[in-house]
Amino acid sequence: MRSALRKCESCNTYTLKDTCPNCGKASKQAAPPRYSPDDRYGEYRRKSIIEEYGENGKCNKVL
Ligand SMILES: [Zn+2]
Repeated sequence: MRSALRKCESCNTYTLKDTCPNCGKASKQAAPPRYSPDDRYGEYRRKSIIEEYGENGKCNKVL
């Protein structure tokens, strides 16, 4: 399953939203990874999820 991982080019924040949660600017769709999206981008995805939902869980629906 391909996620709509997006990236803010202003502050290099990865997000799943259309706007950057960090600076509020419009994010752009991250380039489709050539291989192992879960390995290469999982870190960023988890990071953005943690920023979005907090570290105490609620992220199991995404992960
Ligand atoms: Zn930003």
